Amino acid sequence: MQGLKKDWALETPPRICVLEDYQGAEARWCPGCGDHAVLSAVQRVARDLQLPPEKTVVVSGIGCSSRFPHYMKTYGFHGLHGRALPVAEGVRARRPDLEIFVVTGDGDCCAIGTAHWIHSIRYNMRMTVLLLDNQIYGLTKAQTSPTTRLSEKSNTHPRGSFFVPIDPISVVLGIANVSFVAQTVDWNPPHLYETILAAHRHQGLSFVRIYQRCPHYTAHVYAGAQQDPSKILLMTHPEGIVLPEAASRMFKNQVVHDPSDLNEARRLAAAGDGVLPIGLFYRNPQALRYDEVSSQGLGLTPSQKVAAINKALDRFMI
Ligand code: SF4
Repeated sequence: MQGLKKDWALETPPRICVLEDYQGAEARWCPGCGDHAVLSAVQRVARDLQLPPEKTVVVSGIGCSSRFPHYMKTYGFHGLHGRALPVAEGVRARRPDLEIFVVTGDGDCCAIGTAHWIHSIRYNMRMTVLLLDNQIYGLTKAQTSPTTRLSEKSNTHPRGSFFVPIDPISVVLGIANVSFVAQTVDWNPPHLYETILAAHRHQGLSFVRIYQRCPHYTAHVYAGAQQDPSKILLMTHPEGIVLPEAASRMFKNQVVHDPSDLNEARRLAAAGDGVLPIGLFYRNPQALRYDEVSSQGLGLTPSQKVAAINKALDRFMI
């Protein structure tokens, strides 16, 4: 309310953020790159949830997708290779009020960042982690990544990769205290949007693996599933990712999967029967959250902290 006299007072309208309030610099990804679709979905989710831009942080590591913070008009941290998650955990540990998105790639997360990845799932601090998986190191011009398929040719394996790829979903479903695991594709905007929306509403660490097209280096990898929806298995459940009816109808293969069933989630992730499962594999809202502990502190005043540090240091006096 503004003004000195009550009957003259003006009611200040509530602030409404529009899409432009989340749009940063012009995205420089290749034309047709799936990163554009993910950026657009995150901006729509932020707008629809009315996340205050000044209270939103996007943290990334290194790689094509890690340019994400530059393209959001929020706070951002374009960090070191594989180190997005510890940075985001540091932010969360001291700022429970912020909205945190982490954007990482298959090289960033599943190779150099693996140790951080595994323990961040276990710590379960509230943040939305998007793994944009294009099965290649794109920024450094086509080297084999941990998710590159067997026999795929790259600059590091010109005769084809001879490593069996890791499946990030199976990895995450095997980590203690996991609390939200979903999978989606960048070329289906309704499913992408609903998945990121559900992930951001989750009170804990939500992990979303996004099959992301890289038309420059791995255009053929997802072409089959993109052109033929019968190669996708849609996991449905009232507690899962709920699609509008019209969007759901385009998936011929559907399975009802209860996201509280961890064993079935693991079975679906490992099935590997030629279809690509999308939807919510697992959710456990009761999983312990480390940020609920760390943001509390020890309840000490500054002088009590100084006294405690001095007491601890006194043990080393000689
Ligand atoms: Fe996207 Fe691939 Fe281009 Fe990188 S190289 S911006 S992942 S299309």
